[in-house]
Order: sequence, then structure tokens, then C-alpha cells
Amino acid sequence: MWLKRFVFRRMAGGQQGAARCEPRRGWPLAWHLAMLCAVVLAPMLATEAALLFHLAQGERTRHEATAREAARRITVDLNRELIAMRTLMEVLATSDHLRAGDIGAFTSRAEAVPRPAGAEIVLQDQAGHLLATTAPPAERRLAMEGLAPAPPRPPVTEGPFSGLLAAPSREPAFAVSTWAPPGTAAPAWRLSLAVPLAFLNDIVRDAEIPAGMVASLLDGEGFILARSQEAARLVGTRVPPELNMPPAQAQGWQHGRSAAGEEVVAAFSRSGLSGWTVAVFMPEAAFAAPLRLSFWTMLAAGLLLAALVAAMASLFARRIARPIAALAGFAATGGESMALRPHGGVREVEAVAAALAAVRAEATARLREREDLLLTLDSAQVIVREPGGCILVWTSGSEHLYGWAPAEALGRISHELLETQFPRPLEQIMGELLERGEWQGELRQRRRDGSLVTVISQWALRRGPDGAPHTVVEASNDITGLREAEEALRLNRDLLASVLNASPEPISARDLEGRLVILNQPSAAVYGATVEDAIGRRVEELLPPSAAAAARAADLAVITSGRTQVLENEIPAGDGSPRVLLSSKAPWRDGSGRTVGVVTVSRDITVRRRAQARLQQMQEELLHVSRLSAMGALAAELAHELNQPLTAVANFADAARRMLGSRGTPDAGQLQAAREAMAEAAGQAVHAGRIIRRLRDFIGRGEAERQPTPLNMLVDGAVRLAMAGAGKQGVVLRLELAPDAPEVMADRVRIQQVVFNLVRNALDAMQEVVHRELRIATARRGGSAVLTVADTGPGLSQTVAEHIFEPFISTKPEGMGIGLSICRSIVEDHGGHLAAEPTPGGGATFRVVLPAAPQEAATQAEVTHG
Ligand code: ADP
Repeated sequence: MWLKRFVFRRMAGGQQGAARCEPRRGWPLAWHLAMLCAVVLAPMLATEAALLFHLAQGERTRHEATAREAARRITVDLNRELIAMRTLMEVLATSDHLRAGDIGAFTSRAEAVPRPAGAEIVLQDQAGHLLATTAPPAERRLAMEGLAPAPPRPPVTEGPFSGLLAAPSREPAFAVSTWAPPGTAAPAWRLSLAVPLAFLNDIVRDAEIPAGMVASLLDGEGFILARSQEAARLVGTRVPPELNMPPAQAQGWQHGRSAAGEEVVAAFSRSGLSGWTVAVFMPEAAFAAPLRLSFWTMLAAGLLLAALVAAMASLFARRIARPIAALAGFAATGGESMALRPHGGVREVEAVAAALAAVRAEATARLREREDLLLTLDSAQVIVREPGGCILVWTSGSEHLYGWAPAEALGRISHELLETQFPRPLEQIMGELLERGEWQGELRQRRRDGSLVTVISQWALRRGPDGAPHTVVEASNDITGLREAEEALRLNRDLLASVLNASPEPISARDLEGRLVILNQPSAAVYGATVEDAIGRRVEELLPPSAAAAARAADLAVITSGRTQVLENEIPAGDGSPRVLLSSKAPWRDGSGRTVGVVTVSRDITVRRRAQARLQQMQEELLHVSRLSAMGALAAELAHELNQPLTAVANFADAARRMLGSRGTPDAGQLQAAREAMAEAAGQAVHAGRIIRRLRDFIGRGEAERQPTPLNMLVDGAVRLAMAGAGKQGVVLRLELAPDAPEVMADRVRIQQVVFNLVRNALDAMQEVVHRELRIATARRGGSAVLTVADTGPGLSQTVAEHIFEPFISTKPEGMGIGLSICRSIVEDHGGHLAAEPTPGGGATFRVVLPAAPQEAATQAEVTHG
């Protein structure tokens, strides 16, 4: 936990630090982008403005030039007409009629002169009186009489061209005048051509005046003589003085305000001939229109562009700023409070976002791993302390081990808190730590509850940047249980050694390969070696090959079967004499129950086996003696038994000898009789031979090996021997030998001795009674052979019956009392048992039960006998 807290604190501190180091807030990104766009677009706008201004200026110049040209053209047209009219007048002035003073003739002549429509030729005297006119009196619209220049006009006589001539009842007109006759110092007449202003209007109107412009013809006083538009209303009026061109100029360009109050510009062209001025006006608004249009256009374009720039900047800013803001949020929160979403449109930002997302995922995974690691480390028993011992870090693992909470342990001196018992003085250990940078050793320390704990402690020295010892990290492992287990193991080992050494019997354990793992001194003595020499050696290295192979086979049988086995084995001792060991071999199992070897506990039974052999031999001797003794008791009867066939042999031999005769040759009848007598003699001799062989077998020493022998055969032979002389006593023998009586694995002589003893005891018992019947029967009962010897004697008394099979129990004067005890040991030695019970109707019955010989053995015996 301390590590986790430490790391988290570091992380939190880092975030605070980041907060403290937050950069000064600047303009939003959209502003930056807008500025960028503005900077890029400003030259374009400036260029566009300059271009538009230039175009507008050009337009104005073009307007001005057009106006000037129009004015000039009108002036030229006007001059041409005026020249023509002046010429006409001058020509007419030269008329002879005038020289002659014939006014009438002149008038006629004048009337014939071609002239503009509505124009009148007027002849005046020097005083201005009308002398003649071409117009009829009724139509004298332009008659000079009464005509006077509109004040403050100068008199019409002043120049050849008079401007506005107007009278209240007359149509406005102008006049082209000349003096007649020409060339005279004092001309008598003034000849004028009065022309309606409509003529001038036609000239002005016919001129090509650009649209939006108005042409006016002004006389020297500024009165309008003709006008391209609104002539009817404005002709005759006077323009404001500032709109008229100063008299000195031939042409000009003037700004001003019209009579209607309208701002106008005007191009002027003065006719040097007449002194009149042609003015071509246009409204200031129309003139300035291109410039204004260009201004507004530029303004509109600028605003549109600015709006466009702002919109695009905003759009781009959103697309860029959002992910950047998200990334900023990612950085600010350590990636915990943000999910990076795709922000379409800005591929690079997408890539950065994707890369950051991957980095974040990896960082998160690493952080988790670190957390897990830290939690794992926290569970370890780790102490971080200053070299002097002051505890800086105390993990929950340490708390778990020692019982001290971090709050109790932090700041304490570790070896004082834990009362540490060091294997060496602490100064030495610290010296080694400073020299090697690490130390490891076993410590005894005290827990909070006072109990002692043994730990393996590993110390690591950490140095600061300046190389000076900084901290010591102690990682400890509790080995208290291990040490206790080792102590217990050592005690067990000592106990085992004590047990082994206390036992006089050989005890040993061998592993699966037959190597001795543990043994005691008696066991080593069996191998003729010391304990130290024998440990780790294989049985083949310690015993002769045959004994080693037998021991190994016995071990393998135990390992294979997993069961304890008891066996007797004979091994040569150091002095060459065989030693007999009764060994109990048990599987040696490990904690999981797996067999890892064999434990053998032996008992040296050499002495016992020798005593048993001796006893056996003595028993054999005893049995032999008892049989000899029995035969001795039967000597008379046996002699009688033998005497009969021998006597018969002698008799038959003697008869044959007599038949063959000593004199002469015997006849055929004699020979036949002699042959039969000899055959009888031979038969009797064979009978006597059987008796002798049975006797010899019975008193023999028996056979070492047991053979499968038919029970009936054993019983028949023994009964015949035992019944010697019984017939004289009037004993009735009922021999019932069952045909299916089995064979038994028997030492023939001993089993016959059993039958002999039982039969002899029965015959002895029946001497005291009148009805003497002996029933001897064999039978098969299950897997056993049963022999029953039942007599009709007095039976067993109560006292004798209880101890009848114990030795030296006898009711007979010469009896030794060992017959039945021998019988019982023989029967039991054959795996059977012997019992006595009363015969129904009186007498005693003895029953011998022997195990039947195995079938194969019996078959083998049959083959052998066959
Ligand atoms: P011994 O014949 O030398 O006495 P045994 O051990 O053969 O020794 O017999 C022990 C005793 O058992 C005999 O003395 C006799 O009293 C008794 N006994 C044995 N067989 C019979 C029998 N068939 N009927 C009655 N008693 C018997």
C-alpha cells in the first residue's frame, strides 16, 4: 500500500505541478486563424481596392473626356453654323441694293436668301430702328423692333453674334449681325439674321451626348441658349455664376451646384467666334458612381471575405481546436476523464488522436501492471530504512509478519523495534553492506506480541546521487516454520538413529536402486562392513552374487506388490558359516504414498534354526525309537506272521522234493504236482517278503521329501502291520477304504506311524471288552482326506480326554504317553488336525483330517508311480 500511495501521491503532485505550470491564456485558436487569413487576404484586398480605385478613376477620366469631347464637338458644330450665317450676312451686306439704298429691292433679295427655318433677316439703321425684315408683319416673330437684350445685356450692336434676344411677346432668339455696306467708315445699316433658339437647340440636341449628360449652350452672360434636355423649361434662364466658366478660358472643368440645387460637374468649351460656352453637365452622383460603386463593391467584397474568413476560421478552429482541446484535457487529466472521439476533417489531428489513444491504452495497461506489481510488492515483507535504522517504509507484509502497524513502526529504529538478534555485531554487518552493497543473513526478531521469529533477511544499499549511502532495503522471509521443521527433523533423525542403534536386530532401508540409505550396526555386521562404509552402497557390492540377487528379488517383490513380506534367507557370515535371517520387508513410502524404497527389519534366527533342526532330529530319533519299540512289542506277533509263510514255503518245498522223488524219473503227474507245490512256495515267500519290507519301511528313518501318496495305500499298509496278531484276540476289522479317497502330500513313514499308533491304541483299549470291533474308514470331504479309526473299547475317561494329546499322559502300566502327542504333531506338521470323540454305542473314535494333494501334483505322482 505504501508504494501505491507513494506513486499516487507522485502522480497527484505531478498534476498539481502541471496545474501550477499552466501556460498563460492567449487568443483563441479561431482568432489566430482569422488573423492568419486576414494577413494572407489583406494584400489581396488592397490590390483589389487599388485596382477598383484605378478602374473608377479611369471611369471618371473617361466620363470627363467624353464630356469635354461632347462640348468641343458641339462648339465646332455651332461655330460652323455661325460662320455660315455670318458669311451669309456679310455676303448680303455687300448687296448693291443696299448701296443704292433700295430697301425694297434688298428685302426681296433677302427673302430669297436661304436661311435656317424660322430665321429672319432684319435690316436696321444705326440707331437700331427696323428698316426691313423678311418676315411678314403678321409673322414677325423675330422682328428686331422692340427687341432689346435682356438686361443687363449690352446692346445687340456690339458684336456680330448677339446672345439671348428676348421680348415678352417674342420667341427667344439670337442674332448674327454685320454692318453694311462693308468697308465703309460709317455704315448706314445693320444687317442681322435673327434665328430662333430652336435652331441652336437642334444643333445641341443633334450632337451625340453620352447618356446621363446634358449639354447647354450659354451666352456670354450665362443665359441658356440651348439645351439638350428640358429646353422648353430652362432655355432663357441663367445658370449660377459659379457654374459658368471664367471668360479667359477656352475650355474647362467645373464643379458646382445647379439652379435646382443639384451637385453637378461640367465640361466647358468656349466658342472663340461667338464667345458662347458649351457646357456638358452631368450629376456629380453619376460622375462619382463608379468610384462609389467600386468603394461599396470593395467594402462588400471585404465584408464578405471577412465573413467568409471568420466562418472558415471558426470551422477550422472547431475542427482543430476540439481535438486539441480534447488532447489538452487528456494531458490535464492523465487520460482518465476523456474518451478520444474521432474528429472528422483534420487528418493529422486524427492521427495524433489515434496515436494518443494507443499510447493511452498502453499507458493504462502499464499502469495496471505497475499497480498489480506494487500491490504484490506491498504484500512482501519489505522495510526501507535509513542507514542508521530509522524506518521509512513499512509494507503491509511487514505489518503482517511483525504485527506493528505502519504508524507505529515508521520513524522507529528497526533493530530496536524488533529487538533483532544478529549473527554478528551490527557494525560488522553494516561494514560489509557498505563495502559490497548487499548483505544476507539469518536474524531472530521479536514480534509485537512478544513471540520470536526467524527470518532470512536480504539487505540492499541504495546510494544517493552524490554516492553517499541513502537507504537500506530489507526484504525478509519468515523461516521460523522451516527452522522448527528442521529441528523436528533433526530430532526425528536422532530418534531414528537411537532406535536403530538400540535394536540388536539388523534394520536397514534401501532405495529403489538397492542403495543402502540407512542401517544400524547389527545390519552393517551382517554385511561385514561399518555403517559409514555401507551407506550408499548397493547390495550387490556387499553380498555374494547369489545372496545379493535373492535380496534384490525380495526387494523388487515388495516394491512391485506394495505389501509387507516376511521371508527367511540365509547369508554367509564373515566367518563363512551361514546365518539365517527372518526378515520383514515393508515398502518405504514418502509423504504422497509413493514407494521410494524398502525397509528391512531382520532377526537373526540362526541359533533358533539350529535348535529346531536339532529338535527335529531328536524327534526323528524318538519316532524311530518309538517305532522300534512298537515293533519290539510286536516281535512275537510278527514272528508268528512271518512263520506262517515260511513254514508253508518249507512244507511246499518238501512236498515238491518228495514228489520228484529220489529214485527213478518222476512221471508227468508228479512233475505237475511238484511244479504247483513250488509255485505255492514261491507265493508264500513273496508274502513273507512283503511283510518284511513293510516292517523295514516302518522302522526306517522316513523320507526327506513328501510325496503325493494315496491315503488308502498308506492306511492299508499300516493297518496290516498293526493288526499283527489281532485276529487271535477275536477283533473284527472293518476296513472301509473309499475309492475316491484323495491323495495326500505325505511323509509316508510318519503318516503310517500315526495310523499304526491309533490302531494299536484301539486294540489295547478293546482288550478289556468282549465285543471287539475295529472300524477303519477313509473318505473325501471337500478338499480334505479323512481317516476314521473307531473302536468298541471303553472309550476315553473324562480326565484323560482333556489332556489326551499332551505328552506323557498314559493309563497303561508300561505306556510312555507320547504316542498321541507325536501323532498330533505329525498331523499338524502336514497341515491337518487330529481329534478324538466317543464312538456312538461305546468306544473311542479318532479322526485324522489331512489336506488333499493338489491335482497337478497328484497327476505328476501318478505318472511317476506308473
Ligand atoms: P500310551 O499308549 O503309551 O499310553 P498314548 O499317548 O498312545 O500312550 O495314549 C495315551 C492314553 O490314551 C492311553 O494310556 C489311554 O489311556 C488312552 N487311549 C488311547 N487310545 C485309546 C482308545 N482307543 N480307547 C481308550 N483310551 C485310549
